[in-house]
Amino acid sequence: VLAIDIGGTKIAAAAVRADGRILRRSTVPTPADQPADVVAGAVLRAVADVAETGTGRDGGRSAFAAVGIGSAGPLDLASGTVSPLNIPGWRGFPLVETLRAAVPGVPVELAGDGQCMALGEYRHGRPGVRGLLGMVISTGVGGGVVLDGRVQTGPTGSAGHIGHLTVDPGGPLCPCGGRGCVEIHASGPSMVRWAVDQGWRPESGATPDGAGLAAAARAGDTIAQAAFARGAQALAASIVCAAALMELDEVVLGGGVVNGAADLLLDRIRAGVAAIAGMAFIRRVRIRPSSLGSDAGLLGAAALGAAALGVAALGRGGSGYDGSGRGSTAP
Ligand SMILES: [Zn+2]
Repeated sequence: VLAIDIGGTKIAAAAVRADGRILRRSTVPTPADQPADVVAGAVLRAVADVAETGTGRDGGRSAFAAVGIGSAGPLDLASGTVSPLNIPGWRGFPLVETLRAAVPGVPVELAGDGQCMALGEYRHGRPGVRGLLGMVISTGVGGGVVLDGRVQTGPTGSAGHIGHLTVDPGGPLCPCGGRGCVEIHASGPSMVRWAVDQGWRPESGATPDGAGLAAAARAGDTIAQAAFARGAQALAASIVCAAALMELDEVVLGGGVVNGAADLLLDRIRAGVAAIAGMAFIRRVRIRPSSLGSDAGLLGAAALGAAALGVAALGRGGSGYDGSGRGSTAP
C-alpha cells in the first residue's frame, strides 16, 4: 500500500507491506505558502521516492495495490477534496483525483490526519480494544475515533474533532468560531499565550514557546505549571465526555506537545479524569502516550488503503475488517 500523510509542515509517503512493515519512506517539507500545483508536486515527489526503488515485481508504482491518504483538514470525502487550514493554496484541492492519476487503477482512500493516527494506533496497539480515541496535541488539537475496527469519518471526514469539544461554555473564543474549546486551552500556542497573559516571560528575552514553557514549569515556575494544569484539565474533561459518549477503552495521546512535555501532562490528565469521571465504564478508560510516534498517521493511512482491498492483515485485526468505516469493496 502506498501511504501518504499530509500536514502543514511535512509530507510523508511510505510503501507499506501487508503486515504493516514500512519498506521505504520519504519525507519532504510542505511548501505550505506556495500555489496548489507546487504543493501537489511535493506530494508526487515523495510518492516517486518510495515508488522508484523496488517495492514490488516491477519496482514501480504499479506495485501498489492501493493508496491510503491521511490529510490535514477540512476534507470533503464525497468529492475527495481537501482544504487544509495551514496550506492556504489548497482550497477544495482534488487530492484523491490527483493520486488516482498518479497511481492509476487502484483504490485511493482518504481520511483526516487525526483519524489516520487513531487507526494506526488501533491497528498496532493492544488486542481487545474496541473503542479508541486518538488525540494529536500540537499547534492545534486534533483527533480521531475507531469503534469496533472502523475509523469514524463522518459524511465529510470531520468526525472526531475532539479539539473543538466545548469544555468551558463561558470560556474564551476559539479560532474555529466556537467558545471554550479544548484547543483554546490545551494546544501548545494556547498554553503559551495564556501563560504570557498571566505574566510569564521566558528567560533572557527569548521568544515565548512551548519548550520554554515546559522548561519553566519543570524549574518550578508557578504560572507555567498552571498553564499545563489548565491544559490538562481541558483535555481530561474532553476525554471524560468522549468516554461517556462512546464507551472508550483507550485514549492515545500524540503530537509535539505530548512528545515534549509528557512528564507535565500525562499524570495531570489522568488525575483530572479520575477527579471528574463518575461511572465505572468511564473511569476505566486507559490513557497512554502514542507508541508509534509520527508513524501513526502513515500506518493508519496504510490500513485505510488496505481496507479498501478487504485486507485485514495490516497490524492486528480479524476478518471482515473495514477501516474505511464504509462498505467493503473486497471481491
Ligand atoms: Zn474550537
